[in-house]
Amino acid sequence: MLRRMSHHLTVRHATASHVGLVHGHNEDSCYAGVRLLAVADGVGGEVAGEVASGLVIDALRGLDGNRPGDAVAALRDAVHAGNDGLREAVRTDPALAGMATTLTALLLDDAGAALAHAGDSRAYRLRDGELSQLTRDDTYVQHLVEEGHVQPEDVHRHPQRSLVTRVLQGGTGPAGPADDGVRRVDTAPGDRYLLCSDGLPDAAAAADIEATLREAAEPDDCAARLIELALAGGGPDNVTVVVADLAGPAGPARQARRLPVLVALVAVALLALGTVGYLTVR
Ligand code: MG
Repeated sequence: MLRRMSHHLTVRHATASHVGLVHGHNEDSCYAGVRLLAVADGVGGEVAGEVASGLVIDALRGLDGNRPGDAVAALRDAVHAGNDGLREAVRTDPALAGMATTLTALLLDDAGAALAHAGDSRAYRLRDGELSQLTRDDTYVQHLVEEGHVQPEDVHRHPQRSLVTRVLQGGTGPAGPADDGVRRVDTAPGDRYLLCSDGLPDAAAAADIEATLREAAEPDDCAARLIELALAGGGPDNVTVVVADLAGPAGPARQARRLPVLVALVAVALLALGTVGYLTVR
């Protein structure tokens, strides 16, 4: 059966999330499907953090089933709906006041992808063995790095590293419609994407994250190993990862290599059964 395959869909994806070794509950939420990848890291008192991240992920979830004409417009609308949802939830239940969430989301369309970003979760792309960070942390410390006051290698031990300057919080201010942080990014067959909450880069060395993305053959194994890295680094925060591979040269090539192995195995099995004389194995 011949099947038309678009390289703008993820062929393999995996998510993993761990509460970490310090906090009592997990305020991260995530999603991975054929078109949509998303991570949100909520903050707020009691359960409000997980309510915030869950509401925003739920607002995006429906994007995965539809083929968007323009991913930027579709993602932008969904981010605004999520942001409005936070405001509505607080109006209904004032105990949720002050809740907020980061959001990093990638939505694939036929021309590439749209990337939404607010806060200190991150998106990375591995292409041809090279890893690039697609997002810029919306943090006070990142600002200090760009001003030359802090060296990038000192960020993970800066006392104010978790001070986030831009999040979704139901408002119409910096993270509202005036600046929703949605932009277009290009995609290529064979790309691997990682979306993660700050619990990963805060606890694991950049070189170890990069090596894991390069070496793990399958997203589920990669995701599990990234969680292990964060826990080995002390698991100071909730850690959530989404790993996704786009269809590309690696897919069909891998299958092509598997075929001769399969033929050989069948031949060996038939020989063992003594029935090979009745069949021709090409
Ligand atoms: Mg976090």
